[in-house]
Amino acid sequence: MAASPSREYEHIFFDLDHTLWDFEGNSRKTLTELFVQLNLSDLGIPDASTFITEYEKLNHWMWAEYRAGRMDKPTLRNTRFKRVFKLWDVVHDSLADELNELYLTEGPKKTGLLPNALETLDYLMDRYDVHLITNGFKEVQHTKLSGSRLLPYFKTITTSEETGFLKPDRRVFDIALETSGAHSHHSLYVGDHYETDVIGSRNAGIDQVHFNPEGIEVEHPATFEIRDLAELMEIL
Ligand SMILES: [Mg+2]
Repeated sequence: MAASPSREYEHIFFDLDHTLWDFEGNSRKTLTELFVQLNLSDLGIPDASTFITEYEKLNHWMWAEYRAGRMDKPTLRNTRFKRVFKLWDVVHDSLADELNELYLTEGPKKTGLLPNALETLDYLMDRYDVHLITNGFKEVQHTKLSGSRLLPYFKTITTSEETGFLKPDRRVFDIALETSGAHSHHSLYVGDHYETDVIGSRNAGIDQVHFNPEGIEVEHPATFEIRDLAELMEIL
């Protein structure tokens, strides 16, 4: 959707996971490698893609439980692979722990990006100040950024770990604005998640771009909605 902007933008803020960095593709790649490395077929799990499908289903459910306040983060992190193993009647806690550990250390080293991410950033950085606001740990996000060649694009990087708040909390956005010397009315935020990104940045008075490749219907659409990052080059 290429409506013309009503505000004059100077600063473009991006989300990282699922917006620029291909979280899903990188996760699948990591699990495929670890399936072989840890000989998971010896457990009776037929193949990596079946394993990944079941893991993603379970992980999705666990995140919903976490967001609903019915599960804490350590439980989510420490039991997800044990629970997947149980689908094949396998109880092997030390292997599940090893898999979890390797998944967390190797995953962020993957470098896959969403289509047109670099081209779009190249275009934007000549015209705007580009920044990043991401939920997550500083070190992990830094590994993703440096490996995937994204790092040089951002004038400022704001992580939830450093601010102590998680998007959609508007304080994350307020801190990012302050750090970058940007005014909310001259800023635009690009992210894939409706609640975290669109509602969060809207609450901070920032115009929003909803990166929505699947075209999921939302209650109060963002200022702009795009299915491909390249559309930003038409809007901006
Ligand atoms: Mg995201």
